[in-house]
Amino acid sequence: MSSLEHCGAILTIDLDAIAANYRLLRGKLAGANCAAVVKADAYGLGVENVAPALAAAGCETFFVALIDEGIALRRNLRQADIHVLNGLAPGSETAFARHRLTPVLNSLADIEAWSLFSKARERPLAADIHIDTGISRLGLPPEELEILAAEPQRLDNIEVDNVMSHLACADEPGHPLNRRQLDAFRKARRAVAAARRASLANSSGIFLGADYHFDLIRPGAALYGVGPLPGQPNPMAQVVSLQGKILQIRGVDTPQTVGYGATHSVARRQRIATVAAGYADGFLRGLSNRGNGYVGDIRVPIVGRVSMDLVAFDVSNLPAEAAKPGAVVDLIGPHNPIDRIAAEAGTIGYEILTSLGSRYHRVYSGGGV
Ligand SMILES: *Cc1c(COP(=O)(O)O)cnc(C)c1O
Repeated sequence: MSSLEHCGAILTIDLDAIAANYRLLRGKLAGANCAAVVKADAYGLGVENVAPALAAAGCETFFVALIDEGIALRRNLRQADIHVLNGLAPGSETAFARHRLTPVLNSLADIEAWSLFSKARERPLAADIHIDTGISRLGLPPEELEILAAEPQRLDNIEVDNVMSHLACADEPGHPLNRRQLDAFRKARRAVAAARRASLANSSGIFLGADYHFDLIRPGAALYGVGPLPGQPNPMAQVVSLQGKILQIRGVDTPQTVGYGATHSVARRQRIATVAAGYADGFLRGLSNRGNGYVGDIRVPIVGRVSMDLVAFDVSNLPAEAAKPGAVVDLIGPHNPIDRIAAEAGTIGYEILTSLGSRYHRVYSGGGV
């Protein structure tokens, strides 16, 4: 991370907005509890700042993808209940126990390994059981679930915390797979009767209704401001803003082109501002000639290709005093939130967040910091 003076762009992460989003989601629940998914460095926002802010908002249960993410999170949150989605890597059992991490067991083989480890320790150790109800990614496939249902003693040495599954199409409320997965999950829950609680919904799944909430919801993206309902107004508070510094202004009035590949031709007199962010910072190349920055309320379109460290904007509509080196352009802000940028770049808000680069100067606001 570079200093405020030396940086090309300033990334501000609003921890109060994350806490507000946590409370908004929790407020939708009747009896269920709300966990937080903080894998991939809290979706690129910095888990060491984000997780304590969520804990301060009342979150007790956290999910990460990798065991090393769990070990790092344990250093930050001594008390939290931390679950590792990718499950047991071979030989990782001791590390799970040492750092008090709960593995998500994704197969009968995982269950057997954890059971043997637990037995050797002479006390049942906690684990989640992940059932694949239709995403065909991780979790026990139907044939393994059948074996587990017929042989429940396979779980005798395990303290089964969550039985869980993951939805493939939660962001498409009308998709028939949602209902099929819900039905399959209800069956799975009966088959894994030893489980203390059940968990199905990610961010978008929460908005499918109370049927999908069970005992524990697992939002990630919505906490960080991604809209859980594509095509509908976003109920979540925006968390991220990004301001890029103008390095240079160029007045162009002769026929010329801008950037690599000469993809933008200057037709009339234009003023071009070159800003210090590029695809090496996660400002995606797909935004070339498509995305928009804002200076206050004034839209400044991206012209030409986004390059590694730089991007050019047409600032002809700005008053001259606003378009000068050192002034900033909102690369992510109230007029161009992450979902809009994602649409312009042909991707999803998740990828915009997890691509945010390491060269920005990061500022955390709120959250008691
Ligand atoms: C990433 C993930 C989540 C969180 O999903 P969002 O769509 O970001 O809310 C929940 N559960 C599992 C299994 C995941 O992999």
